[in-house]
Amino acid sequence: MAGLLSGLESLGLGNLENMDIFGKDKKEEKVKAEKKAAEKPEFKETDFIYDKTFKCPVCDHDFTAKIMKTGKAKLKKPDFDLRLVYEGGFVAEKYDVVLCPTCGYAALTRYFGALLPTQAKAVKENITSNIVLTKYNDDTYSFDQALERYKIALACAVVKRAKASEKALICLRTAWLLRSYREFLEGEEGDFTDLIESLTEQEAEYHSNAYNGFLEARGSEDVPIAGMDSVTLDYLLANLAFHLKDYPTCSRMISGVLTSPSANARIKDKLRELKDELAKVKQ
Ligand SMILES: [Zn+2]
Repeated sequence: MAGLLSGLESLGLGNLENMDIFGKDKKEEKVKAEKKAAEKPEFKETDFIYDKTFKCPVCDHDFTAKIMKTGKAKLKKPDFDLRLVYEGGFVAEKYDVVLCPTCGYAALTRYFGALLPTQAKAVKENITSNIVLTKYNDDTYSFDQALERYKIALACAVVKRAKASEKALICLRTAWLLRSYREFLEGEEGDFTDLIESLTEQEAEYHSNAYNGFLEARGSEDVPIAGMDSVTLDYLLANLAFHLKDYPTCSRMISGVLTSPSANARIKDKLRELKDELAKVKQ
């Protein structure tokens, strides 16, 4: 069907032949859409992170890693294993591994710093000489990218003979990340059954390693352990023990905190609730 404006071509106005006569100005529509978006702020992951510059203690190169902005995301609640859940679905643990794109050395933000010469040498020999790093330039880290970063950090921690607490904290945060990933998929459309099953299995494995690592650290390191005082560590261990069905240890950790003069009332209340749960499963 010829349009109302057909024939304009012969007038040298062919580019106007297919104009939508009653259509709104595209620019005007765009402005309206932008105004609407501004009225109803949507969750933007990039608002909560920034590029921070680090100096690599292994290869001496400067590089940037995406790090969470402090005080920006609103905390909803901590989980039983201390995972911090934020409003809007921001997944903080995605941004806690610093990875050097030149040599492949990676560590949790709190541990990224000076290394002993023997440790740097071990990383060069066992990580740098073998690693093939994935290149990515997105504004945010995907769950898979973040998981990859945690795995490299764990490999580096093993190679540099890190303390049990450092390895345990990497495992704990990986478990958080796997849970956040699973929860994200559960809210998406599509069939992710196999992936969700695999994430759940991996989470259990990382929880178990975190638990054993923190128990080892508790017996061999001085507090603070991975930034936790003894009450917080025992609170975490009580919860992990319950989760992993190690009930005798769970009971021991609860009693220790409940009789500790330095434990605050809120932690004691939470552990009294856990004690009730423990009594129920023991019946
Ligand atoms: Zn490096």
